[in-house]
Amino acid sequence: MEKKHLLYEGRAKRVYATDDPELLIAAYKDSRGTAAVPGRGAVNNRVSVCLMQMLEREGIPTHLVEQRSDRETVIRRVHIIPLKVIIRNVAAGSLCTRIGLPEGTRLRSAILEYYYRSAALGDPMINRYHAFELQLCTPEELSVIDRYAFRINDILKPFLRGLGVDLIDCKLEFGRLPDGTIVLADEITPDTCRLWDAETGEKLDRDRFRRDPGRAKDVSEAILRRMTRGNFV
Ligand code: UDP
Repeated sequence: MEKKHLLYEGRAKRVYATDDPELLIAAYKDSRGTAAVPGRGAVNNRVSVCLMQMLEREGIPTHLVEQRSDRETVIRRVHIIPLKVIIRNVAAGSLCTRIGLPEGTRLRSAILEYYYRSAALGDPMINRYHAFELQLCTPEELSVIDRYAFRINDILKPFLRGLGVDLIDCKLEFGRLPDGTIVLADEITPDTCRLWDAETGEKLDRDRFRRDPGRAKDVSEAILRRMTRGNFV
């Protein structure tokens, strides 16, 4: 497959057209709006591919086609639904400031939140009625998204726990294929989840990155090594 022109550049990835109108290439950058960490893009690419392959095996449809090179992955072209779907198991970040739970509080059951992806509005938190008013998706699509989000959490949580990592919360994005099928899109990496060491509570994710950028790649690599039981790269 041939890589064509750049379609879109985000903070973490560039997306290219290909000679197949149904396929795109996502290329992970080493930077994320901040200082670049050499190799970070390749590690995040690998982590996201591994996790999506696992989710596919468990019956969650995703946009993933195949990894193309260390930092590139072939994905299906979807219409991205402009919602950030957050699933939470333990209170952290904006949940603590919004409803006053102390950081680290284990939630009675997983909490799902939606944020409207709009840079102009600062990605406000919304509910399902706002999503329908804005025609972001249909009620049927949103119930599929909800079901997938809880299921993804139920798959990732024990998987990561087996690696000694606690999944605190995670951001998911979904897309619509031309035939209307809803699929998991974007990425799942330590930059889009909060991951804490299950024993020590040490933060292994982007909270760590904010404080200590040079360590971000090491942390992703450690997770990847644990994920692939030492067999990666
Ligand atoms: N998150 C993300 N991208 C965003 C917003 C949130 O990946 O644009 C992730 C974030 O890393 C965390 C979870 O979603 O794992 C919940 O984020 P929260 O609402 O607590 O916001 P934060 O405090 O991280 O800004």
